[in-house]
Amino acid sequence: MRFGRALSERAGVREPVFEQPVTHSYHVTAAEPADCREALQLPLDTLKGIGPVRAAQLAGRGLATVEDLLYHLPFRYEDRRDVAAVSSAVPGESRAFVGRLTSIRSGRVRRGHRILTGTLTDDTGSLDLVWFNAVRHVSDALRAGQRLAVYGRVAPGRGARLSVPHPEFEVLDEGAERQPEVRPVYEKPGDVSQANLRGWAAQALERFGGCLPSFLPPEVAERQGLMDLNRAMGVIHRPDSALDPGVLEEARVAARRSLAFDEFFYFQLALALRQRQRLETPGFSSPARARLLTGRMRELLPYRLTRGQERVLREIYQDMESPHPMRRLLQGDVGSGKTVIAWLSALRAVENGRQALLLAPTELLAEQHYERLQPYAERLGVRAALLSGSLSAAARKETTERIGNGGVDFVVGTHALIQEGVSVPRMGLGIVDEQHRFGVSQRTAFARLPSRAAEAGVEPDLLLMSATPIPRSLAMVLSGDMEVSLLEEAPPGRTPVRTVVVQEDRRRRVYERVRAAVADGRQAYLVYPLVEDSGKLPLAAAETMARELSRSVMKGLRLGLVHGQMPAAERDRVMRRFRQGEIQVLVATTVIEVGIDVPGATLMVVEHAERFGLAQLHQLRGRVGRGRDESHCVLIHYGSRDDDARRRLEVLERAADGFEVAEADLRFRGAGEILGTRQAGYQGFRVAHLVRDHEVLQAARRETRDWLSRDPRLRSDVSRRIGAVLRHRWGESMQLAAWAD
Ligand code: ADP
Ligand code: MG
Repeated sequence: MRFGRALSERAGVREPVFEQPVTHSYHVTAAEPADCREALQLPLDTLKGIGPVRAAQLAGRGLATVEDLLYHLPFRYEDRRDVAAVSSAVPGESRAFVGRLTSIRSGRVRRGHRILTGTLTDDTGSLDLVWFNAVRHVSDALRAGQRLAVYGRVAPGRGARLSVPHPEFEVLDEGAERQPEVRPVYEKPGDVSQANLRGWAAQALERFGGCLPSFLPPEVAERQGLMDLNRAMGVIHRPDSALDPGVLEEARVAARRSLAFDEFFYFQLALALRQRQRLETPGFSSPARARLLTGRMRELLPYRLTRGQERVLREIYQDMESPHPMRRLLQGDVGSGKTVIAWLSALRAVENGRQALLLAPTELLAEQHYERLQPYAERLGVRAALLSGSLSAAARKETTERIGNGGVDFVVGTHALIQEGVSVPRMGLGIVDEQHRFGVSQRTAFARLPSRAAEAGVEPDLLLMSATPIPRSLAMVLSGDMEVSLLEEAPPGRTPVRTVVVQEDRRRRVYERVRAAVADGRQAYLVYPLVEDSGKLPLAAAETMARELSRSVMKGLRLGLVHGQMPAAERDRVMRRFRQGEIQVLVATTVIEVGIDVPGATLMVVEHAERFGLAQLHQLRGRVGRGRDESHCVLIHYGSRDDDARRRLEVLERAADGFEVAEADLRFRGAGEILGTRQAGYQGFRVAHLVRDHEVLQAARRETRDWLSRDPRLRSDVSRRIGAVLRHRWGESMQLAAWAD
């Protein structure tokens, strides 16, 4: 409504874009959801002008269906309505000009590069149009004497002249008036022209726009001032050139918000239903039996738990006591002390007669957990076992059997646990350390290991732990239907890692520092990013690099190398040698194992730090500062001294706390990048952005809760359609069961 009024006020003498108030502009789709879906899933060669070859090419770029095309939104607009006089051109400004091409010539500049220069002249003057390495189709299309409409950014040219490098242009028919227009600009999937994309989008909208599933409850649409999807897409793909720029922009914002709201509404609904599903699933209740294991363990601890740890543990115990399965995510910065919480949770399960499992992403990490916890287990009389891929086949078989007949209370394991489908008859609690290193299906398989409870349809408690510090609001969303506990303060006695950003030209000094540290009996990490597209970096290249280092700046030092392509076992072997001090400098082309403690390592150097995310760098530097000595992290920056990348890195010089870093990272980059593709895999959003559209997300959350409270089993006619769309979008990935009885 707000929007409707603003529009008509600002539209002035012009026809307003929507004569009706916006409250009336949500037209519920007439077709049934299943039919809508079928229409929108049609392949793109359904459209005129797209043949099978083109369709296949587009599909290869993620545009396979009519729906894909409609949701391929323009990322900006060009307003070509104001044709500027050539004499008014100002360097740096993007303008549209119309004039005659009074000359066109092609020449060569240095090293054989071709350059194509045209002169555009109108009544007020002339400027140059310039193409470097001119593409054939430009020179083919242009002839002196043609009338041209051009659009582009003005730049200083030869001498006092101005030029427009690589302008967009259109050859005008003689005498034809140029149409004033606002044009959407799309990201191009391959060598497709903007004109084609615009044409196809318009065609798709005309033929299939009415199939877009606008099924939200009318009262929600009204309260939220939403446009239906068809209308919103129209505003976005076919801006009305008759409108004021300001009005257009406002309409666009409202349209985008409508699309995002639609996505978030179904997402939040799926989350709510899943949460309900869990609350309706039977689980175990593990009440406090403090005089058994947990209480005795506290007495054995060499330190007191921090207040944060106590709070988190209370939250976990509450979940464990409830008769429904726990699904809790524990987020805590590196070194915040999550392991002891995992252990005290495991003991709560064990003292209630159940088995607890701790899953770690690498052999080395599993071993480290086991080594740390086994002595406690022994003193408490808890039967503990390690099950990892590095055990001999015979030992593995023996351990598996002992777990299977209930002879083990606490198991630390790796993927081997899941792969072998180890039977855990009394399984009560599963803990996943560094949970982001596991895929969803692995976590699900872990929660569903064969057990007596599983046979009876009872689900075990699950505690996921992660060191990716992300802001709470985002954690809530990304963790799906899980509860979130945050461990915000570090345990006492840790000296923060001192971080400095240095320019690339001072690398030599940095390497001298590495040598000095080693001479002092310390160890260092040297981290390199993988260059883009070299995901397949051959082993040889990484090894060559390590060899070169050992011949030049790192001469005489004992170097080790770990990289992404290395088999896990080999990587573990190198890490182990580093931990034992045999290797002095560890060169890593991959993110170093999370959670590994090497107290002797006090220096970390990160090359091309600008290529990493802040959160990632923060995790990396958590590898040092594990011992008593002060540790340093040196971020080497390639780029100019005052660029954005450097400013971003400097956040790390000031912020020691992971959450602070995460907030900053969020501001600089999107959520997807922070979490990596694996975590950001919320394929359901094409428009909505978890961070930027946070307000929309909250609004959608309120509306879904409200809707569910009024129609909990989604029985009404409106709900039935919503349910059908929900199933399409989220049914599978969220494992939604039936919600009606
Ligand atoms: P992370 O959360 O990264 O897994 P860890 O559990 O490995 O961190 O803990 C890091 C270090 O802090 C360990 O050496 C652990 O013994 C120690 N620690 C944990 N809790 C406390 C505490 N309350 N007081 C002092 N030291 C603690
Ligand atoms: Mg840990």
